[in-house]
Amino acid sequence: MKTEFSRTSNPRGLGKWLYKRCLEYYVSIVIDCTLFKVHRCGCGKVRSVEVKSAQGDHLYECDNLVFAAGTRTPQLVRELFPDFSRDFHETVNSGNWIIVKSTATVRDQMRAEVILDEVVDHQLEFVGRKDLATSHFVIWVCGLNDEETRPDGVTGEAEPDEDAIKRLREYAAQFLRNGQYALRDDPEVLEKGRTYRPTIDRELPIVTSVSCADLRGPRISKAKSHHVERDCAKSGIWVCTGHGRYGITLGLGSGKLLSQMIVGEQPDLDVAALGFPP
Ligand SMILES: Cc1cc2nc3c(=O)[nH]c(=O)nc-3n(C[C@H](O)[C@H](O)[C@H](O)COP(=O)(O)OP(=O)(O)OC[C@H]3O[C@@H](n4cnc5c(N)ncnc54)[C@H](O)[C@@H]3O)c2cc1C
Repeated sequence: MKTEFSRTSNPRGLGKWLYKRCLEYYVSIVIDCTLFKVHRCGCGKVRSVEVKSAQGDHLYECDNLVFAAGTRTPQLVRELFPDFSRDFHETVNSGNWIIVKSTATVRDQMRAEVILDEVVDHQLEFVGRKDLATSHFVIWVCGLNDEETRPDGVTGEAEPDEDAIKRLREYAAQFLRNGQYALRDDPEVLEKGRTYRPTIDRELPIVTSVSCADLRGPRISKAKSHHVERDCAKSGIWVCTGHGRYGITLGLGSGKLLSQMIVGEQPDLDVAALGFPP
């Protein structure tokens, strides 16, 4: 049995911290809007984007644009650049999960993650945390990936696999019984679901720039470019996806590498293997 602390035990806390840090760096955060058009210069480099929101359409000028839309990244890039020539090699990988109400006393509550993969021979994780909406102490139980059913277009969420949910309930009853549930008691399931992970058919994610040649599409001429010659070399489009099961853990590092590449610094790690799969 492996016991470890993970960012999954406090995802909201991580989100809040990131949000605060962004504001400290004068990052402007716009939500509830949809990117629907990318305008490029004659040389192929990105110039501006158009987003749609309840307040109407808005144009933002930009030099760089990062696509990090999780499972939707490949689809979004293909929609915006129909001639895009690279293959993401995305695969389907989802995790079924339930949230059960804990009956432990406050004194016994642990905000820890317990991984039982080696006990049951497949992924099985228990994470204890306080539900901010209800203030109940809850335990998130996840495992039993289901790769066989592919709904039309993978988005973020999918209907849970009821067989998997039943087994997760049984595991909850089995492993949480000590001080939680009597042996044959059924734990109270507050929520259930299945969520897709952005996965590609290799171990490493894609954290890379996209060349103008990969984007193809209409290209006028460098002579009509608004950029100086050396700035035309890159499209200004970047992709960060495919972290599969480890995106929460690796995301901060990938973000740092990407920011270093964008500002032209030497990345902390060799990024040669993080391009599009051949
Ligand atoms: C059940 C489960 C358990 C996991 N456990 C762990 C773990 O313990 N440790 C770990 O490291 N990782 C874990 N992961 C994996 C981790 O959650 C993912 O790798 C990570 O979330 C991927 O980050 P991302 O930013 O690429 O995508 P996401 O987290 O999916 O973020 C993409 C965001 O883009 C938004 N978006 C999509 N389309 C658009 C659009 N057109 N316009 C604007 N926004 C858009 C989405 O709404 C979403 O908010 C787990 C995943 C699952 C499903």
